[in-house]
Amino acid sequence: MIARARVALSLLLTIAVAAPLSAQSGQPADLVVVNARVVTMDPDGAVAEAVAIRDGRISAVGPTKAIRDAVGPATRVVDAAGRMVIPGLIDSHVHALMAAPVEAVTPFRTLASVAEIQAWTRAEARRLPAPAWIWTPRVFPTRLRERRFPTREELDAAAPGRAVALDGAYAYVLSTAALDAAGLTATTPDPPGGAIVRRPDGTPSGLLRNVGTLLTRFRPVAGGAVPLDQLERVHRAYLEAGITSVVERGASVEGYRTYEALKHAGRLHLRATVTLQLPLHLQAIDADRFIAELPIEPGSGDEWLKVGPLKILADGGILAGTSFMREPYGVASRALYGVDDPAYRGFLSMPVSTIAAVVAAGHRRGWQMAAHVTGDAGVDAVLDAFEAAQRDSPRDDPRHTLIHAYFPNPDSAARAARLGVQVDTQPAWYFEDADALQQALGEPRLTHFIGLRTWRDAGVRVAINTDHMFGIDRDTAMNPFNPFLTMAVAVTRQSRGGEVIGADETVTREQALRMMTVDAAALTFDERSRGRISAGALGDLVVLSDDLLTCPAARIKDIRADLTIVGGRVVFERQTR
Ligand SMILES: [Zn+2]
Repeated sequence: MIARARVALSLLLTIAVAAPLSAQSGQPADLVVVNARVVTMDPDGAVAEAVAIRDGRISAVGPTKAIRDAVGPATRVVDAAGRMVIPGLIDSHVHALMAAPVEAVTPFRTLASVAEIQAWTRAEARRLPAPAWIWTPRVFPTRLRERRFPTREELDAAAPGRAVALDGAYAYVLSTAALDAAGLTATTPDPPGGAIVRRPDGTPSGLLRNVGTLLTRFRPVAGGAVPLDQLERVHRAYLEAGITSVVERGASVEGYRTYEALKHAGRLHLRATVTLQLPLHLQAIDADRFIAELPIEPGSGDEWLKVGPLKILADGGILAGTSFMREPYGVASRALYGVDDPAYRGFLSMPVSTIAAVVAAGHRRGWQMAAHVTGDAGVDAVLDAFEAAQRDSPRDDPRHTLIHAYFPNPDSAARAARLGVQVDTQPAWYFEDADALQQALGEPRLTHFIGLRTWRDAGVRVAINTDHMFGIDRDTAMNPFNPFLTMAVAVTRQSRGGEVIGADETVTREQALRMMTVDAAALTFDERSRGRISAGALGDLVVLSDDLLTCPAARIKDIRADLTIVGGRVVFERQTR
C-alpha cells in the first residue's frame, strides 16, 4: 500500500516493465513515454498519447496500448500520468561560451540600481589592487531602477582614482581615471561606427557608444580556454529548463574547438550548432580571403555538434541606444541613453559597403549568413546585402538570418519573406525592457517592438530565443533563458511592469511553441529531425509540469521541465520531493 501511494504521488514514475516485443519492429524501444498528451508539432496539430525511442530516434508515436508493445526487458518506461510532452526546446541564440568562464571566476550578479553598481565597485576596488581596471558585470540602463547610465562622477565616487568601466555591451561608462588611462580627451576623434560622448566644453562625459574595441586592451585577459566544467554546467541549466538544442550565437574558431573538446570528452549532453562570428573590423577587401581560410567547412559536424552560419555585427543595441534607426531617437530618449542630438539615429558598426562585401563573400562560399542587426534602418542595410548577394550569385534556400531585428514593419517583413530570410528574436527583452523603452522611444515605436505577428503575417519564419549571456539561473540570468517566459511573453506581450504595448503583435500558444521547436530547428536546417515528435526525428522530448496550451496565461512562465530526454536518454529529472 505504501509503495502504491508513493507511486501515485510521484510525478516522475519511471519503471521498467517486461512485455512482449513489438510485433512490427521486432526490436524493443530504449525508452517509451506513455499516458501523456504528446504535442507532436505535426502540421495537422496531432496530439498523441505515447512515444517510443530507439537508437536515439523516435521509432513510434501512438496510443499507449500500442506503444507498450515496444517495451522490452531493458526499456525504460516513463509514465507521464497525463502530463504534456513537447519536443525538446531549441534556444537558437545563447552565449554559453560567454557565461561559462565568468561563472568560473565571479558568478554573475544582476546590479539593479546605481547604488548597487557603486557598492559592487567599492568591493572590487578592495579586492583588486590599483592600477587594475574594475569592470562591472554587464548592465543595461533599461534594467536599472534609475533608467539611466550611471555618470562618470558616480563611478569616481565609488572608487576614487580608480579606472572603472561599466559594461553595457554596446555602450560603456568610464570613470575619470579610466578615461585618462585610455587616453581619451577633448581632442580624441570619434572612432568609426561609434562616439565618445562629450560635454558642452568638449571633454568626454564618460559615456562611450559602440566603441568597445577602444577598450579591448584594458579588459582582463581571459584565462585561456573556456573551462569545460563550467560549459557543461551551463548546459545542465539549459537541460533543466527543457532546452535540448542550442545555437551558440557568436563564437570564435577556438569556441568551436571547445565544443569539440566537450563532445570528445563525452560531456556534450545537448545538441549544439555553433555560429562563427566574423571580426568586427574585417575590411571589405579582406573578407573573401578571411572566409576562404576558415579551418571549418560550412555545415560540417553531426547531429550533436555542427557549425552554423557566419555572423556579422551590423549595428549596436537598443538597450544602450546604439541601434541604427530610420527615425531619430528623439528628445524623450535623453534620460535613458544620454542622447542630446535631435538628429541622432544610432550607428552601423560597419559601413554599408563592408556589410555588402562580407555578406557576398560568405554567400558565394556557401555559408549561411546571419547579421546582428537591431534597428529598422540597420535591417534595411542588411536586407540590401542579402538581396544583392542572392541576385549576383543565386543559391537554393540559403536561409540568411536577421538576428534581433527589433522594430519590424510591413515593408521589411515583406522583403524578408520574399528573400527567404528568417528572424531570430527575443521576447524576454520585451518583458525586461519595454517599460523603459516606451518612455524613451514612444508608444508608436514600442507597439511593434519584437513584433512577432508582423513577421509572421508576412510569411517570415521566426525563431524565438533568449540571447542568454551570463548567469546560470533561468529566471535571473542575463538574459533569462527560461523558455516558458519567452513563450509567455510571445503570447501575452505583458511587460515586467504589467503593461501590454501592441496587443496585435501577440501570437497563439501553438505558434509560440512552433517558434521554439520546429521553426527554430529550421533556422539551422534541422526541421526534419528536430522540433517535432514523429517517427525518424531525434529522440528529444520534455515532460512538462503544466499544460502549456491550456493553463492560465499567467502561469505559463512558471512551467517547469519535469523530465528532459535527449536522444532517448533521460538527462534531467526533477526531484519532486
Ligand atoms: Zn547574442
